[in-house]
Amino acid sequence: MAVIYLDNQATTPLAPEAFDAMVPWLRDNFGNPHSPHVMGRKAAAAIEAAREQVAALLPKDGRVIFTGSATESINLALGAVRKMSGQGRNQIAVADTEHAAVRDTALFYGLQGFETRLLPVDEHGLVVMEELEACLGAKTALVGAMLVNNEIGTIQPVDHIATMAHRSGALMLCDAVQGFGRIAIPEQADLIALSGHKIYGPKGIGALWVRNGIELPPLIHGGGQEQAVRSGTLSPALCVGLGVAANICAERWEEDMDHIRNLADRALGLFGDWTVNGSVDQRYPGNLNIRRDGLDVARLMSEVRGVAFSAGSACASGSGRPSHVLAALGLEAAQIKSSIRLGFGRYNSIEHVEQAADLINQAAENQLS
Ligand code: PLP
Repeated sequence: MAVIYLDNQATTPLAPEAFDAMVPWLRDNFGNPHSPHVMGRKAAAAIEAAREQVAALLPKDGRVIFTGSATESINLALGAVRKMSGQGRNQIAVADTEHAAVRDTALFYGLQGFETRLLPVDEHGLVVMEELEACLGAKTALVGAMLVNNEIGTIQPVDHIATMAHRSGALMLCDAVQGFGRIAIPEQADLIALSGHKIYGPKGIGALWVRNGIELPPLIHGGGQEQAVRSGTLSPALCVGLGVAANICAERWEEDMDHIRNLADRALGLFGDWTVNGSVDQRYPGNLNIRRDGLDVARLMSEVRGVAFSAGSACASGSGRPSHVLAALGLEAAQIKSSIRLGFGRYNSIEHVEQAADLINQAAENQLS
């Protein structure tokens, strides 16, 4: 039996259009995009066209830097604090519910002489504004808040947070990995990270949008590619795949969202016996994080092999660590262990959701009866 894939926050399948666009760059056009001859220039032109396709979904007053992943984009972006520390700003504040790419990197800086604060969230997963206000000051270098949470789907009011950060002279980093190509990108953020494999593009490529005027120290030293901050030969195939994937998201914007909403509505009806973790309203509908008290999710996952879904985030379940996001909402350890995450995507059908709900609900009933 084919596995029903409901783990679209972990990764998405490659869009056929992106695959088709990548093939010639893998098979025929092998020129180094940084070579001055005709083959190199052709590859460079394809990369610049892809950059424009990605930029089309981002604010106008900035530049796009290609990277190997969103994690790399975030590491590059957080390098900004090294420049800020020269101005006496050595404090970093990020939401407690950030993905490890932001949270752990911010905590790493905390071991390097910076002061890192994890901002608490309320039971919906929204940053507590009074806490943010209280922590902002003349020493704040950077505030980090993600657009859509990868575990619970909560949409943060990023523009509002950015305005507060700017009032204190700090930069705002937005991890937009789970929102880019699906919901509007905040206009006020200064640094925006995204990833190819979450928007039906290839794995191994991400990008960082940087507001004009912001200088970043290089993350990778070498030949000076990518505006001298990220050296190394770019892969035209990966850039083209990301560009086409972004373009398809733009073209199918409403169609995709309508489809995701339909899948989510159906799922909410089918999982009526479960409790939603996080905000019910302020969320991206493609993410459904739910729990049933008393359930052993590790057992459930081994029993429901026909559905690919997640316990907390893919990273958290891979490491065996309990989800720091669910813990930040105030959930008890037992509630965290009884939570699952379903992620709906463009290539899922209503039948997928119905079949998966049957299998999951049946296994849950067997366990709890
Ligand atoms: N940020 C968020 C919110 C994510 O969901 C992920 C991936 O799970 C990342 C960052 C890291 O992205 P990448 O796999 O491109 O490094």
